[in-house]
Amino acid sequence: MGETALSIGAKVFQFFTRNPRGGAAKPFDKADAAALVALLEKNHFGPILAHAPYTLNACAADEGLRGYAVEVMKDDIFRMDHFPGAMYNFHPGSHVKQGVEIGIEKISDALNQILKPEQRTLVLLETMAGKGSEVGRTFEEVRAIIDRVELSDKLGVCLDTCHVFDGGYDIVNDLDGVLEHFDKVIGLKRLSAIHLNDSKNPMGSHKDRHEVLGGGFIGLEALLRVVNHPKLKKLPFYLETPNELPGYEKEIALVRKNSK
Ligand code: FE
Ligand code: FE
Ligand code: ZN
Repeated sequence: MGETALSIGAKVFQFFTRNPRGGAAKPFDKADAAALVALLEKNHFGPILAHAPYTLNACAADEGLRGYAVEVMKDDIFRMDHFPGAMYNFHPGSHVKQGVEIGIEKISDALNQILKPEQRTLVLLETMAGKGSEVGRTFEEVRAIIDRVELSDKLGVCLDTCHVFDGGYDIVNDLDGVLEHFDKVIGLKRLSAIHLNDSKNPMGSHKDRHEVLGGGFIGLEALLRVVNHPKLKKLPFYLETPNELPGYEKEIALVRKNSK
């Protein structure tokens, strides 16, 4: 992973801890982890970000599925704790007819089972597009989860540009306003990472379809304003655009060329 990231000029990267659609992870290999830590340090990488499988649902109505999400996340965090400064991003969940209030309670209850005082890995709640019954579309929902978590110093937030735009926040015409709202509701100091994506659909569509930078309804100019915003520019940015490696390499170069 580290070698691949290096080869395309990345200074940070995100990866799935296991098959994104679920299933077992490879057994943890301490020697592999140590080699990656050495490579990251030697090449001055920023924080690496692990993404939980998106099939996990911490607020599933089925207790077996919820328990599975808790176990997978515990195991993933155990693994990520071997990488100094690493972060672990997850989709809060889908309440599927239980209602958003129950969803929020169940997600925070799951986090109260998962988080440990001794862990080093910061766990990030990702802002969602509001597709189906996703919890975490509004900043208020994210805040409500954080408020119910005992070890909330272990929590941060990952802002996905496609998701917030698709969720109805106008980052194209009013980025400052959106960030002020984020600050008031959640607090910008919780903001720990950005998923930098364009969107295949107009604002408020709730479809969650990512597009390559400049190819969608957010557009390159607005995305570059995100990258260069004084309140955001020091954060790590992770691409989740529909690309293969050469496409990512071009996007990294493009963003870097336009970074102030
Ligand atoms: Fe995600
Ligand atoms: Fe994302
Ligand atoms: Zn997405």
